[in-house]
Amino acid sequence: MGPATLLFRRHQRQGRRVLTDPAVGWVAAYIGIGSNLSNPVVQVKYALRELARLPESCLTACSALYRTLPVGPQDQPDFVNAAVSLNTRLGALDLLAALQDVEDVHGRLRNGTRWGPRTLDLDMLLYGDVVIDSPELRVPHPELARRAFVLAPLADIAPFDLCIPGQGLLTDLLAACSGDGIWRQGSPAGCEGLASLAES
Ligand code: AMP
Repeated sequence: MGPATLLFRRHQRQGRRVLTDPAVGWVAAYIGIGSNLSNPVVQVKYALRELARLPESCLTACSALYRTLPVGPQDQPDFVNAAVSLNTRLGALDLLAALQDVEDVHGRLRNGTRWGPRTLDLDMLLYGDVVIDSPELRVPHPELARRAFVLAPLADIAPFDLCIPGQGLLTDLLAACSGDGIWRQGSPAGCEGLASLAES
């Protein structure tokens, strides 16, 4: 069952329709991807395919893959990180629900361990230039500006002059971050043709 179906079912259970917020129109959203369990490169590649199939959305760019040292507890495997951009007509909370459905498909356990190992972590880094500070969703993602493993993939795909609301230019934030513990691995094989991802 794909993420679109899961999203429809979740909303059906909650008595909601999948929302395309007509007031929102198309929004450029950036998603951070991370995995350090169960063959992380494969987890990330499958996640790319699922993100390419999200309803009311179009995957527009995909960063290189990065191998990164874990933040927090060190007794866990290295991470594979990447970022993608989407044009979406989903509202921010619907996009978050869709991302969580994709995480669930990848067997993501939610045991409350901060910085713990995970099969798949999808973070909404940016939702246009909107600032949201609610219990469920904070955008720009609160850790974005401090983490090279988020900023470096984002810089692969974002416009050079991208400004993170409330934080400043992406290029300045990246320059201020230590590049220790992060290694660029190149493009994920099969990600050269974004259109083909949705059909693969
Ligand atoms: P994590 O364990 O890092 O995946 O955090 C998951 C929790 O963070 C979920 O309960 C989300 O509702 C919440 N959250 C808040 N802001 C964001 C965001 N920008 N992207 C993803 N999850 C978020």
